Amino acid sequence: MKTLIATLLLSSSLLCLAQPQASEADLNKFYTPELLAQLPQVQQAALHSNYALQQLDHLTNNIGPRAAGSPQAQAAVEYVAGELRRLGLQVKLEKVMVPHWVRGLETAELVQYPGQARGTHQRLVLTALGNSAATPSDGITADVLVVSSFHELNRLGADNVRGKIVLFNVPFDEREAEMGLAGEAYGTVSRYRGGGGVAAARLGAVGALVRAAGGADFRIAHTGYSAPAGIPSASITAEDAELVARLSKEGPVRMHLTLTPATYPDVESYNVVADLKGSEHPEQVVIVSGHLDSWDLGTGAIDDAAGVAIAMETANVIQQLKLHPKRTLRVVAWMDEELRGSGHDAYFKDHQADIANHVAAIESDSGAGHPAGFQTAIPPEAAPLLRPIQDVLRAQGAAAMRPGHTGSDIAPLSKAGVPTFGLMQDTRHYFDYHHTAADTFDKVDPSELAENAAAMATLAWALCNTDQPLPRAK
Ligand SMILES: [Zn+2]
Repeated sequence: MKTLIATLLLSSSLLCLAQPQASEADLNKFYTPELLAQLPQVQQAALHSNYALQQLDHLTNNIGPRAAGSPQAQAAVEYVAGELRRLGLQVKLEKVMVPHWVRGLETAELVQYPGQARGTHQRLVLTALGNSAATPSDGITADVLVVSSFHELNRLGADNVRGKIVLFNVPFDEREAEMGLAGEAYGTVSRYRGGGGVAAARLGAVGALVRAAGGADFRIAHTGYSAPAGIPSASITAEDAELVARLSKEGPVRMHLTLTPATYPDVESYNVVADLKGSEHPEQVVIVSGHLDSWDLGTGAIDDAAGVAIAMETANVIQQLKLHPKRTLRVVAWMDEELRGSGHDAYFKDHQADIANHVAAIESDSGAGHPAGFQTAIPPEAAPLLRPIQDVLRAQGAAAMRPGHTGSDIAPLSKAGVPTFGLMQDTRHYFDYHHTAADTFDKVDPSELAENAAAMATLAWALCNTDQPLPRAK
């Protein structure tokens, strides 16, 4: 392997190519003719299977929302474990202690504002953020302070913030998302969702509201993780954030806010870890994965029952085709991606001694839109070795391999040098539904789901069977 890498590096530097190339001889050593013939078979089988769709259907429609610590999350663990056992995999439930936060009542009204008609108030649409503290059961009433950034909040300082409900009115940039930069658009606003409560509480605020972290103007609130701040925290719709911002330019705006979520002690839950043992290198592992928990508002179809279903399809097609991987294919359905990341943390800790045997990990956690390929976290010398896989994936428009974020559940493995891949879905409309009550089964296009499954299965099958593992980051 070292010689191969040296050759690649040398040839690339001599030719001043932007990306190192692999010679045909190198690739022939890496991929047997048998493997090259199998790749399109795996791809086609997944493209024409409805197994992933059936799994998505059951997880979302039959089981429903799967918040960490909920009975539905437990039902999903048992269902996926049972399905993978039925496919012939060796299944283990690996223990994870997960947070248990449960939504309560959530209402808000503007009770005082410029131009108010006598005896009326205006009802707002909002939803509590994960980890939000509760108000008293009859709510709190306070003036609203609208800010457009952390900087503005800090500049105003405690004297202006104390006793107020702070509204972070930072819009999700829909044009940025439309241009294929949805992750960037989301990153900008989700900072406020995650850290707004803490920043506001530090200056004495009694509540924190963040403008919905997502696109689509259907007056819909987007929940999600927020760092525990000890004050009630909620996502308010874009429309209502605009309303409050407009009114507050004219004069004081006072809000009555009621949020009654509860935080309970941690609950025992599980990652589902299912192996199809390798015939030559059973100790070497290639992970395919998605996360089993979801938010509680919708049924978590795009986030992320789709990812679990896509990973399960990889195992299904390999079994249907009666193929036997050289390395172990491991399906992981992660628990608690959303609130604390306790699933991937537990996995990394429990498998610490065996990380060197993890030869690759793949995750799907950006919905089920048409995949253009994969985001990768691999050393530069590994990239040219993927070319035969790209040649197969090109037929379905999924040949891209671009360095980037590969997924939060496999991030600890990635950090430890394991080559990782994240399906690069079309996310132009992902954040319309993400973490909302509208994240439901109907949002997934069955043929695009199958495309995702085909891309993951093809890549996973290749990585299970190449002559040598991909080079790892040092
Ligand atoms: Zn997710």
